[in-house]
Amino acid sequence: MAVQQNKVSKSRRNMRRAHDALVAANPNECTSCGELKRPHHVCPSCGQYDNREVVAQANDVDLDEDAA
Ligand SMILES: [Zn+2]
Repeated sequence: MAVQQNKVSKSRRNMRRAHDALVAANPNECTSCGELKRPHHVCPSCGQYDNREVVAQANDVDLDEDAA
């Protein structure tokens, strides 16, 4: 196992961590519903990707339908 030769001071540790902040996501507008969505992801509000529906929305599924 590699062992560091010198103790990293609080100052040097904090200088290293100065660049570790998380950055906000860069959302795009959905082309079908206009809601903000993550790029290259299915739209969470309308379930569309590449202008076709790939995830059925909960209110479109008829749960009362009798299977028999
Ligand atoms: Zn959408």
